Order: sequence, then structure tokens, then C-alpha cells
Amino acid sequence: MPGFEFWGEEEKKEVNDVLETGILMRYGFDGPRKGVWKAKELEQEICRKFGSQYAQLTSSGTAALTTAMAALGIGHGDEVIMPTFTFVASFEAVLSVGAIPVLVDVDDTLTLNPEAVKSAITPKTKCIMPVHMCGSMADLDALKNICEQHDLVLLEDACQSIGGSYKGKMLGTIGNAGTFSFDFVKTMTCGEGGVVMTNSEDIYTKCDGYTDHGHDHLGGPDRGADLHPFIGYNFRISELHAAVGLAQIRKVDQFLAIQKKNHTQLKQILSQVPEVSFRSVPDPAGDSCTFLSWFLATEEITVAFVEEMKAQGILAGNFYWYKNNWHYITKWDHLKNAEFLNRQAHDVTEKLRSYATQSFPASDAIMSRCISTAISLLWTDEQIKEKGEKMVAAIRKALAHVPAEV
Ligand SMILES: *Cc1c(COP(=O)(O)O)cnc(C)c1O
Repeated sequence: MPGFEFWGEEEKKEVNDVLETGILMRYGFDGPRKGVWKAKELEQEICRKFGSQYAQLTSSGTAALTTAMAALGIGHGDEVIMPTFTFVASFEAVLSVGAIPVLVDVDDTLTLNPEAVKSAITPKTKCIMPVHMCGSMADLDALKNICEQHDLVLLEDACQSIGGSYKGKMLGTIGNAGTFSFDFVKTMTCGEGGVVMTNSEDIYTKCDGYTDHGHDHLGGPDRGADLHPFIGYNFRISELHAAVGLAQIRKVDQFLAIQKKNHTQLKQILSQVPEVSFRSVPDPAGDSCTFLSWFLATEEITVAFVEEMKAQGILAGNFYWYKNNWHYITKWDHLKNAEFLNRQAHDVTEKLRSYATQSFPASDAIMSRCISTAISLLWTDEQIKEKGEKMVAAIRKALAHVPAEV
């Protein structure tokens, strides 16, 4: 997820346009800003590049999810079905609108298992939120069907899959709404930032107001003349951050092409080992290739591989055990203990505490054997070869130490 690896003159130029005017805010100051509207321009570019009718920038991907949920009418007592494997921001956003995160198993797509989703539906279910983790997508046809059958909304957390697609449509533009994150480690970055994309004018108008204290933005150049048809917050992006994003979005096709090339080369090397299997990708042509995700046969072999890589000073990228408390339910003690700073509704804390005793053996069986190798834009062909060969050697060593069970 490497936009920051290509920081350059283009970003500096865009930021400098803003510094020249000194207008760092995206709204108002029409005269002194001398025609510089970086946030507006970036929203237009996002619509054009990703094929969304509307785009609302936000201060982060987490803010984008929160905004989308509010605009979709998700609130107190509603249940949102989401995967056990994601980034903590997904459940943070659900909780921030007073809704209840209902965690369900992932399958070997590393995203929502549609059968697990079906079994989790209750009369309180309002939304299904697939998270297109590590660059690739959930089975969106299956999830859309479930939404239609049960009258639910589909919110795509596409924060990690900028530029990925499913059957010809860009990820994040297929559900009722979808979000990207432009934080520092994502495929394209603003430093901090995010966006909600939607094809619904109604949802967009709500996002537009929600991110700016409920302003209707109909008062003309005088912000004081705007009306406030509903209560909002401040989730605005700054012009400086939007300027960085504008330079990055113009390079995103190049990022994606390099990612695909590097991903293909590394995959070819690992494919030489018959004991390695790869993540299922519902539409392989649409993989944005930010990561190469793959599996070994057992947890023991995977641990042995990761330890071998660690001994060589290389981080292997396993989300299940190693130094990573962000991505998988086994490490979310703060969620399972409902550790809030302030008082919460009883139904929310009850549900969270139930996760302390609920186990997810199907997710564990996938995640404990999974390695997600982050793809760098800066690798040379020689470096990929060297990296791949080191990985193959470490896999062979692990297999020799822990023979597969017969
Ligand atoms: C990064 C990320 C987010 C949140 O983005 P921020 O911009 O860091 O707030 C949400 N969901 C997923 C899956 C992410 O990877």
C-alpha cells in the first residue's frame, strides 16, 4: 500500500499552490483563494477515475466510514455485519454511530463468507459491510443478493483496495456507498484523508453536510448564511491534504501497474512450491495487488516459516500471532472487554462482551495459515527474485522441520 514511496515534485507543486494563497480550508474565502480549490478538484478526479457519481472527501478513512453510516441511516440498535479480519477502524465506525458490530467468519477470500453472513441476519440487521482486505475483494454478487433479499444496505470498506475492481466496476462504487482511506500507508495517500463514494444524490448530500457541521452549503460565499438541516460534525479534509491527494491520484495508474507486475513475479516464484496455495480472488482481473496473500498447509508450518524469516530479520506478514493487534479478532481485547471511555448503551456492551467467549474456528483456520506479503513499488526485478528465493528457502526449511500430517 505504497503511495508514499513515490513522493515527489508533483506533490510539492500541488501543496505549494495552496501555500501561495494561504487558504488552507476547503470552504469559503472565495476571493483570496484565487481559484485554488484542491478538495473540490480531488473529488471530481475521484468520480472520474473510479466511476462514482459523487465523492465526499473526509479527514480520514475512519471518518469516511462513520459519515457513510450516518448518511445511510445506521444508528442506535442497528446491527452491522462485518468480518473478523479487518482493521479496527471498521468496528470503531460502527460503534461511533451507536450501532452494533456483528462479527462473522471470513473464508479463503480473506473477506466475508456469504454463508456466515446469512446465518448472522436478525430483525435488527441493517447493513452488510464487506472489507476488501489486502487489495482484493469480497464476493459482491453473493452479498448484493443477500442485501436485496433482506432489504439491507451494502457499505463497502474499500480502504485497502483503491483501484481494485469487480466485474468491471471499481471497488467502493458497487454498494450503496463505499469508502477509501488516504492515510499514509494506503495505495494513494493524502497524509491523512478519506472519501465516501456513492451514486445516490441523497446519500451524497447527507455526507456533504455531515462532514461540515450540517451545513447545507447553499448560502453562497458567506458560510454564515448556510442552513443546518441536520446535526453534523467536523470531518473536513484540509486543502493541504487534498493537494497531496491530487498529485497522487494522477500517479495511481502507475502505482497499480507496478504493483501488478511485482505481485505477478513474486507469485510465480512462490508457485514453484507445491505446498503453497493462494488466496481466492472472486475476480482475479480486479485484484489491486497491494499484497500477495498465500497459505501454508498447517498452523505449525506457518509458524515455523514466520520464525525462520524473523531469524533472518524479515517481517513475514502474518496477522494472526505476530506483533499486530490491529487486524484480527483474537487480539481485540479492548473490544471484547467493551473498554469505552464513556457510558454506552447496554445492548452494545452486551454484544461486545459476548465476543470474549465466542470462538471463530473457521476464521482461525484461515488466518493462522495466512501470510500477506506487502508489495513495494520500489523493488527491482533482482530484489523480487532475491526476496522470493529467500521465502522459498524458508518455506522448504519449515516443511522439513514440521512435516505435513498424513
Ligand atoms: C486504513 C483503513 C481504514 C481507516 O482508515 P484511516 O484513514 O486510517 O482512518 C478503514 N478500514 C480499513 C480496512 C483500513 O485498512
